[in-house]
Amino acid sequence: MIDYSVFNGKRAAYFTLGCKLNFAETSTLGETLMSYGVTKAKKGERADICIVNTCTVTAMADSKCRQAIHKIIKDHPGALVAVTGCYAQLQPQLISDIPGVNIVVGAQQRSDLIDQICYQLQGCPSSNSHQLPLTSIAREAALFFPSCSRGDRTRYFLKVQDGCNYFCTYCTIPMARGRSRNGSIASMVEQARQVVAQGGKEIVLTGVNIGDFGRTTKETFYDLIQALDTVEGIERYRISSIEPNLLTDEIIDFCSNSKRFMPHFHIPLQSGSDEVLRLMHRHYDTALFRHKVERIKQLMPNCFIGVDVMTGMRGETETYFEQAYEFIKSLDISQLHVFTYSERPGTKALEIPHVVSPQEKHIRTQRLLELSDQKTHDFYQHHIGQTARVLLEHTSRRTKPMNGFTENYIRVELPNQPELDNQIVEVKLEAFNQTQDALCAKLLSSY
Ligand code: SF4
Repeated sequence: MIDYSVFNGKRAAYFTLGCKLNFAETSTLGETLMSYGVTKAKKGERADICIVNTCTVTAMADSKCRQAIHKIIKDHPGALVAVTGCYAQLQPQLISDIPGVNIVVGAQQRSDLIDQICYQLQGCPSSNSHQLPLTSIAREAALFFPSCSRGDRTRYFLKVQDGCNYFCTYCTIPMARGRSRNGSIASMVEQARQVVAQGGKEIVLTGVNIGDFGRTTKETFYDLIQALDTVEGIERYRISSIEPNLLTDEIIDFCSNSKRFMPHFHIPLQSGSDEVLRLMHRHYDTALFRHKVERIKQLMPNCFIGVDVMTGMRGETETYFEQAYEFIKSLDISQLHVFTYSERPGTKALEIPHVVSPQEKHIRTQRLLELSDQKTHDFYQHHIGQTARVLLEHTSRRTKPMNGFTENYIRVELPNQPELDNQIVEVKLEAFNQTQDALCAKLLSSY
């Protein structure tokens, strides 16, 4: 029997790198510790326990994780430092060799993290230490660690799925997070009800490959969204990144008729060249991708579509990049999330002979970022003069304007009115703000 009373009165600091999934998982770890009497260290306050949730999506992400760990050790002398997440899973020894790191646990053992911290605080000799990182082969990971981030944000991030079975040639995520798995629909509905009980209005469904939901419970993502749609009190759902081949016409049609699923999709394309998609071992071609975008726009003309693209993948010749650029330009989409390809140890892509130089990668990334700015600007411009419903987010600084998002994910700015925190209001969209990344709006009514 573990005695968690050692946690009572301790202060913890949390550091999360990477995706929304990591944020949701850190939030759940924080809630568990809070239930044992641990408070969150305020900014500038020295913590007794530091938890670092890492990411390994690129070489840059690895480097940022190492820098963050060094800074945390320096800023919180004497604290117990526990490192978890994808980078911890893939490079446990490297992290445990950093002086000052006490615990390293990988993806599968995340649920053991609290117990490991507890053992260390008790000074238990059998506890895990930095000489012995706790990781397992992620492909064997079978546990689903349920998570839902809450607290600081107006939006909640509900983890519905973890892991991936696709093994795209450039990606290490399946090695870090293991095979695709999920919680049950019943458990997701229950978590959505808890969000309502806490006053939450918007949930973003997150996962590594969320369209693959249901593999371990013999359910489907379509079943999941239908069930969540019935939860009274949730005003908005958004679906985070979903693979185009798993974004079925059935799902698109359902969202177009739902009052709760917002006209907003995020679809990874990665390359607009069929040859590069083949080298990446993606599960679709450009024709399928175009069909998805066109179907969405046909049913939801004002839908916001964000698209992930990668530049400088091995094998992306100049000709293939130009083809990709023209394809992306021709799509009726609202924003690009541009990633520069980074060589990852252990991936199949390293066998592809054609390598793109760093300078060329930079030029391609810049061109796509400019295209993205243009597309977002055009999308926003098209909405000026229209009315929209906006969910306003909490701002701690009352001197700053309030921000929120329309149903179709346009960022909106309003003069600060604290009583409108976490409220849905109707506004008229008027003009770009100074930095052009939001539309200024006039309040028409609140609900
Ligand atoms: S779908 Fe491909 S890119 Fe996405 S996590 Fe799986 S392997 Fe990685």
